[in-house]
Amino acid sequence: MTSIPDITLNNGQTIPQLGFGVFLIEPKDTATAVSRALKAGYRHIDTAEGYGNEAEVGEAIAKSGLDRGEVFVTSKLGNDAHEPDDARRAFDETLKALGTEYVDLFLIHWPLPDRYGGDFVQTWRVLEEVYRDGRARSIGVSNFQPRHLRRLHGEAEIIPAVNQIEVNPHLTQDELRGFCAEHQIAVEAWSPLGRGGVLAEPVIQSIANRAGKTPAQVVLRWHIQRGDIVFPKSVTPARIKENIDIFDFELPATDVEDITLLNKNERTGPDPDKFNGR
Ligand code: NAD
Repeated sequence: MTSIPDITLNNGQTIPQLGFGVFLIEPKDTATAVSRALKAGYRHIDTAEGYGNEAEVGEAIAKSGLDRGEVFVTSKLGNDAHEPDDARRAFDETLKALGTEYVDLFLIHWPLPDRYGGDFVQTWRVLEEVYRDGRARSIGVSNFQPRHLRRLHGEAEIIPAVNQIEVNPHLTQDELRGFCAEHQIAVEAWSPLGRGGVLAEPVIQSIANRAGKTPAQVVLRWHIQRGDIVFPKSVTPARIKENIDIFDFELPATDVEDITLLNKNERTGPDPDKFNGR
């Protein structure tokens, strides 16, 4: 079976560098997709309250025959639940839906610039509570910009273990990634394939032809060699297998650089400075 490297987070916990994302997988299709991923060797699932499929993720893990400790599970706080009491309730509901006593990682999904008076620190304190009581083994943020992270550095007791941000060859995020590296915050790259939009790039196609791999495998390998954590999404059995089969080859440094040069600072998803979660 494919051996997936672990990344050690700033609190000593480890996370498999490659996982399986379930955004935009219909609840009715989620248990099947997650079961296929677990059979293919994935041991890290990335879900969120907002994806509406936490229960189906939990169902697939329960049915897999794997011990709970063998699968790393991430979920995220809903955008409507940033008030502290709502956040506490939402976290309880996440655990209930997943059918588990703890999550491996719990994130604030979006900073939400114009809601809750811009006060994500009060929300972060609830994440610190669930970290301290052991129900979240690690806590982190998603879509946070340097100024949000600086504010947590100044006001919070616990530094986020990860920042989950959009990264792909058209949005390489090197400045924000550099900031995270300086502050010992691991980067998780969401939409690592740019939802498929980067795969037709001639540079990527030609590297794939030379390596005898697919464009998706080359792009995922690029992320891995840059040190980021990824969790591509697919419901197609062949692609689920293809996306994990990336640990038997290495890109030369020049290929990594050539792919990085495709950057256009172009997002596929919302801009965290404008997105208010609705
Ligand atoms: P992705 O970049 O993983 O792209 C998925 C799409 O790429 C698939 O729907 C399919 O069309 C295509 N694809 C997948 N494998 C392929 C292959 N081998 N060959 C060709 N095409 C292939 O995009 P995503 O699902 O948006 O992101 C992955 C995960 O990141 C999500 O499932 C979710 O867990 C996470 N995410 C987080 C946030 C956030 O705000 N924190 C936002 C979006 C996504």
